[in-house]
Amino acid sequence: MNFEELVDFAASVRGFLPVPEGLALSAHGRRRGRERPGGTWLEVGAWCGRSTVFLGAAARDSGSVLYSLDHHHGSEEQQAGWEHFEADLVDGADGRINTLPTWQRTVADAGLESVVLGLVGPSAVVAAHFSQPLDLLFLDGGHGEEVAWADYHGWVPHLVPGGLLAIHDVFPDPRDGGRPPYDIYRAALGAGFVEDDAVGSLRVLRRSAPAAVLG
Ligand code: MG
Repeated sequence: MNFEELVDFAASVRGFLPVPEGLALSAHGRRRGRERPGGTWLEVGAWCGRSTVFLGAAARDSGSVLYSLDHHHGSEEQQAGWEHFEADLVDGADGRINTLPTWQRTVADAGLESVVLGLVGPSAVVAAHFSQPLDLLFLDGGHGEEVAWADYHGWVPHLVPGGLLAIHDVFPDPRDGGRPPYDIYRAALGAGFVEDDAVGSLRVLRRSAPAAVLG
């Protein structure tokens, strides 16, 4: 698949990321890839691989790699009885959500197995043992207070000056959605990041040089 076909395919993958926001992710990824070919990118929160393919298409274009991190057991709002629960993703062996097989199928169907590298485990543990500088970071993991801030503090320090930080589910109006993604977005703005773009609830920020102190 060429870039356009991959992006079309991404739009067909099950998931929650609206297409205009996925297209924006692809476009910003492409731009970053042109600035820094062969870079290292990471997304937190993969679910079934929809954002993975939007970003992976752009990563492939620039010879970059995308680490796609998720424990694959769903976040709080994806558990039984919650708003985004999807019963067919439950693993009968232990009754937990397991999106890993679906994610893996998505990446294989997209032909991105040498571009997208899966990381399976708790974000905070992986972040503490990860030493690669990142050129692009997409935060779309759990939206609870504790996990969202852990992702911010665990991953944002890995971003190089000039690197792009994309955050999903940023809602300035509390009636539209939970606070933590908005709060970490505000913290990043206060820590030397500059806003580059806003599409729906997606915000794209750039880390100014030199490395900022996180709020
Ligand atoms: Mg999201």
